[in-house]
Amino acid sequence: MTSAYDDNNIFAKILRGEIPSHCIYEDQHTVAFMDVMPQAPGHVLVVPKAPSRNILDADSATLAHAITVVQKVAKALKEVFDADGVFIAQFNESAAGQTVFHLHFHVIPRHEGVALKP
Ligand code: ADP
Repeated sequence: MTSAYDDNNIFAKILRGEIPSHCIYEDQHTVAFMDVMPQAPGHVLVVPKAPSRNILDADSATLAHAITVVQKVAKALKEVFDADGVFIAQFNESAAGQTVFHLHFHVIPRHEGVALKP
């Protein structure tokens, strides 16, 4: 069973302006900011503003918009970081590695032969 959304999470606080972030993109429905513990240079998190815990409780309009922003950010990061590829990840519930319970997508530029930091 998926738990209810709790707005006492760090990304909700960023969205409310209660704690700072390094924002690289914002529109009506979505923000994108730098991950504080990047697994590689250019690690960005794309975060829908809607109060969804993860993909399991998100509505389809939120997801549809979010993936277009993920694509936009991925293309920009590939160019800016001169990357060979772009890794995109999204975790749902602690069993799957989720630690911040507000829907987000990891977008990470990748270079041939360079491993992600653990
Ligand atoms: P995981 O921690 O296993 O990557 P998540 O998918 O829930 O699981 O990712 C949460 C991400 O949020 C982590 O990459 C973490 O470094 C990042 N993070 C935590 N706090 C902040 C913050 N204040 N600003 C930006 N990124 C943050």
